[in-house]
Amino acid sequence: MLCAMASHADVAIIGGGPAGSAAAILLARAGRRVVLCEKEAFPRFKIGESLLPHSLALFDRLGIRDEFEHHAFPKAGGEIATACGRRTQRFYFEGAMQLSHRSAYQVERAWFDKMLLDHAAAAGAEVRQPCAVSGVAFDKTGATLTTGSGEIRAAYVLDCSGRNAVVGTQFDLKRRYDHLQKFSVFAHYEGVQRDEGRDATLTRLVRGKHNWFWLIPLDERRTSVGVVMDIADFRAAKVTPEAALDEAFAAAPIMRTRMAAAKRITEVYAIGDYSYRNTRMHGPRWLLAGDAAGFIDPIFSTGVFLALHSAEQAAATLDFALRHPLLGRIRMASYARNLNRQMNRYLRFATAWYTDEFVDVFTAAKPLFRIPQAVNSVLGGNIHPNFSVWWRLQLFYLVLWVQKRHALVPRLEELKAEAAPAPSGVT
Ligand SMILES: Cc1cc2nc3c(=O)[nH]c(=O)nc-3n(C[C@H](O)[C@H](O)[C@H](O)COP(=O)(O)OP(=O)(O)OC[C@H]3O[C@@H](n4cnc5c(N)ncnc54)[C@H](O)[C@@H]3O)c2cc1C
Repeated sequence: MLCAMASHADVAIIGGGPAGSAAAILLARAGRRVVLCEKEAFPRFKIGESLLPHSLALFDRLGIRDEFEHHAFPKAGGEIATACGRRTQRFYFEGAMQLSHRSAYQVERAWFDKMLLDHAAAAGAEVRQPCAVSGVAFDKTGATLTTGSGEIRAAYVLDCSGRNAVVGTQFDLKRRYDHLQKFSVFAHYEGVQRDEGRDATLTRLVRGKHNWFWLIPLDERRTSVGVVMDIADFRAAKVTPEAALDEAFAAAPIMRTRMAAAKRITEVYAIGDYSYRNTRMHGPRWLLAGDAAGFIDPIFSTGVFLALHSAEQAAATLDFALRHPLLGRIRMASYARNLNRQMNRYLRFATAWYTDEFVDVFTAAKPLFRIPQAVNSVLGGNIHPNFSVWWRLQLFYLVLWVQKRHALVPRLEELKAEAAPAPSGVT
């Protein structure tokens, strides 16, 4: 599909990732004229492979659930372990509180993103690809998008361009989180050591003192493995991303074991500077969804869920605005408030994750008051926690606060021991 001549749409969508495709499917099914511009040719490599149980409800509503039967790897839960391997906490969605689905999926994004975009085209959206949007001019009645091969006129623009954040960048709305200045290096491997049975499906997070790793099984053979570190540490190490990844494995005993027989089957990819939020999520003729609105941190795999969820809400908001132009702005403001609230919740978790006390408490041998089950519920994508989940979350943060000052559960001295210099100072 190539860029074509000028046309007029109800909604022009920038970006064909999960947010853009999901919004296109829903708007097209609502009878709206949708043009979606995606700058890259699919399939292409993308990181973001571990999905949450609550995304399954969205897949049902998008009518794409059957696709997962043959192409996705089921996921029963997760595991958080210390890099030394001495403390481990497993959690299964089966045991989480107030979760509508008891399992989730791991996906290869090359397949997942193409599948969603194909559904958008099948639903009636006009998909232009490869077609990069270089700018948007807004006026009272709509917007004009400039692309490499012509202009597109639309009543509204939905920016789903991910980290490129076309509209947010144009209006200088992007603000970084100073305390989450991270750098990720990752690749796909074969031969990574796995456990037996349903434990072979878990997303594993391995926490070092100054970094953490993910291990995400993509199918029976392939595993996505990556490390997240402070961007300052990576710069100070003065090594290539590939060397940083290998040295990080070597410095973490549990990773050494799991990766002992592993063979890399893709190139090594690296991303930094990805935690930010826009100061505004909407304007008279535009709305932001997915990473184009903001991205917090890869920990807890909330990115695709928030992208799909915000896309669904954005599609409903724009459909409403097209029907009721005078009330549209109020609905857009409410959309932005809700999205900010959900992002705040995950921001609080992500910020807590980078403290020692989070791992102290989460991996404690005897979990109190079913707190991990409540935390898992929210981390599974439950964005409307009931009272029994809500009070446990408040208790969780209180316990973290106390743990920082007085050890309620034994502190992870082994993590502290790991703070000793690692090869090249990477970890
Ligand atoms: C290291 C790391 C690990 C992660 N792991 C996970 C995980 O395990 N689970 C999870 O749920 N999330 C994860 N994420 C987050 C996840 O990848 C994103 O949140 C998700 O892809 C957001 O979807 P999106 O549709 O908003 O944006 P994207 O998926 O980024 O899609 C945006 C699309 O817009 C296109 N585009 C950009 N600019 C333009 C333009 N000018 N014109 C036209 N098209 C354009 C791009 O080509 C792209 O296809 C991770 C993120 C990072 C950084």
